[in-house]
Amino acid sequence: MQKPWEILQNKDPQVYQLIEAEFKRQQDGLELIASENFASAEVIASMGNVLANKYAEGLPGKRYYGGCEVVDAVETLAIERLTRLFGAKFANVQPHSGAQANAAVFLVLAKPGDRILGLDLAHGGHLTHGAKVNFSGVIYESHFYQLEAGSDLIDMNQVREHAHRVKPKILIAGASAYSRTLDFAEFRRIADEVGAYLVVDMAHIAGLVAAGLHPSPVPHAHVVTTTTHKTLRGPRGGVILWNDESLSKEINKGVFPGTQGGPLEHVIAAKAVCFQEALQPSFKDYQLDVVRNANTLANALIERGFKLVSGGTDNHLLLINLSDTPVSGKQLEEALGKIAITVNKNTVPGEKRSPFVTSGIRIGTPAVTTRGLRQADMEHIANWVKQAFDHVADDAYLAKLKGEVESFARRFPLYPNWTS
Ligand SMILES: *Cc1c(COP(=O)(O)O)cnc(C)c1O
Repeated sequence: MQKPWEILQNKDPQVYQLIEAEFKRQQDGLELIASENFASAEVIASMGNVLANKYAEGLPGKRYYGGCEVVDAVETLAIERLTRLFGAKFANVQPHSGAQANAAVFLVLAKPGDRILGLDLAHGGHLTHGAKVNFSGVIYESHFYQLEAGSDLIDMNQVREHAHRVKPKILIAGASAYSRTLDFAEFRRIADEVGAYLVVDMAHIAGLVAAGLHPSPVPHAHVVTTTTHKTLRGPRGGVILWNDESLSKEINKGVFPGTQGGPLEHVIAAKAVCFQEALQPSFKDYQLDVVRNANTLANALIERGFKLVSGGTDNHLLLINLSDTPVSGKQLEEALGKIAITVNKNTVPGEKRSPFVTSGIRIGTPAVTTRGLRQADMEHIANWVKQAFDHVADDAYLAKLKGEVESFARRFPLYPNWTS
């Protein structure tokens, strides 16, 4: 099978070369960014087709444009598969991204100036949970709960106390850099005590939830948002789920016309393909391997002297805490980049360095697990991380390691069915 961008080779060699270069970068390295994954060739193909030509503002059966019979069926299928996958009654599959899903939900659940309460960005929260530089912190009065000092865990007593003090309109649960299980039932009890809506943003853990490896927020939250491209392994995008029919009209309005125009029906088709993949038994096996790999890697790093935030992981990611070391998150990220291992620096609880330098490295296993790496391979990764840490400033040494990592990575071909 030809690579989908082969058609560009003669027509637009500049863009062709850039896509080729990115494909090579992805194949030659090890992708450990916790929010990334490799969507299937089927998902990729579903994004590149004539559905992209169609305007379809509105919802299936209620559009502002003619000619929507086919995209109506596509979108209806995506909604049906998604609600089946997560056991939710209702869904909107149009958000262009996770941030857009949150914007749509916040727009209809809170008014400008209302209070929202979420996990502090520096403690693992997401920008859209109230950060001052984001719409959520500009439009709403944002408040934050933090991890408990010492354990690095979300302390539900602190969340409760904070919620009673702030009386938020929206309580947000969900994180981008938290390696432990979230107690959605308790979050809901707190939301009920203070009369808040509970919005759970499961962007990072949606794949684990779909596979039954993390408790589902769907029975507890008023509204659940997620991305589709992280552990769920679909196209870049967002979706919204809920159970209470009385919210349907408002949530759908929050997406269109509230925060978006025409939906990306080609991406919605790819979402439908992703949901069908996630409904297969093999998807559960994949997520089991993701979690096992993260746990094995966590232990292997601890054995090599690294400290982890919260001491380990229950899910697909872990955070190395470099606070007590002379090496910063930025330095280790750059050193790993030089050996073809991609990670991101991250703040840690009680951060002493600046947000551009940081004392943390976030590592996730979803992408390398898709690639085919298993528990024994995590020992290699831990060794490379340790060697990069020990030789952050030794470019000659790092260059030698890069060769090792690349020849290892090539043993796990990406998209093996594509030829050129
Ligand atoms: C990644 C993420 C998002 C945003 O997703 P985008 O598609 O990048 O907009 C929102 N919330 C959480 C918790 C995330 O981790």
